[in-house]
Amino acid sequence: MRLSGKKVIVTAAAQGIGRASAIAFAEEGAEVIATDVNTEKLEELKANKGISVRKLDVMSKKDIDAVAKEIGRVDVVFNVAGFVHHGTVLDCTEEQFDFSMSLNVKSMILMIQAFLPAMLEHGKGNIINMSSVAAVKKGVAVRCIYQTTKAAVVGLTKSVAADFCSKGIRCNCIMPGTVDTPSLRERITANSKMDPEDSMKMFQARSPVGRFSSAEEIAKLALYLASDESDYVNGTEMIIDGCWSL
Ligand code: NAD
Repeated sequence: MRLSGKKVIVTAAAQGIGRASAIAFAEEGAEVIATDVNTEKLEELKANKGISVRKLDVMSKKDIDAVAKEIGRVDVVFNVAGFVHHGTVLDCTEEQFDFSMSLNVKSMILMIQAFLPAMLEHGKGNIINMSSVAAVKKGVAVRCIYQTTKAAVVGLTKSVAADFCSKGIRCNCIMPGTVDTPSLRERITANSKMDPEDSMKMFQARSPVGRFSSAEEIAKLALYLASDESDYVNGTEMIIDGCWSL
């Protein structure tokens, strides 16, 4: 019961890393508010003890503020929502850049603005942001907008930690390599001219350990960061990439 007594909000919890984390947090005793725009998939999480669900579009300040008002202070905010744009700097439109900045970065700023004041009043709070190893640790082909936004998440994380670490606030980010989630499988099919199975093998081969991580493996790191076991870990980026960035 590593999160006993803690209230945690998770964004993008309907599938992938967010979902695995919401389940892992609840299994360790947290009261989890799992949020997403996909209400149908979100509903499935209600079967798990300790998880309640809310529709939350993280691109809407109005939605975020309404949820924050409704649920009050939380101990942990896990900002997971993010979108992977495919392309080089020459392939992205201004609209695509604005969309990704809004979903991958502005959403986290809005979430922090909504939940940080109550944490500060309480004297303790914990924010975890989802970055990627494709941020500042490794240049990855055809991920220009994605890489740019995930690098911004690292900056945001360090800035929040620098401003509020002396007031009991922790803010860290996670940098996964390639994680086997529904959207990864969609990307492999959608953006490859190769046979999806060959494409899958090619993606797996780019990892020195020869496989993707599971969402559950990332959730275990999120669990560590969410718990008091990591109390002295602050303002940092945690790489979990099977040596991809070495
Ligand atoms: P995913 O892409 O499979 O699922 C994303 C979820 O986000 C979906 O449930 C979707 O409904 C939700 N969502 C989309 N727009 C939303 C919005 N406006 N408001 C709220 N929810 C919204 O999830 P994933 O692959 O586990 O990725 C989760 C995070 O981890 C992302 O930030 C991603 O960039 C990051 N990440 C993923 C990988 C990977 O290989 N999968 C690697 C590194 C980092």
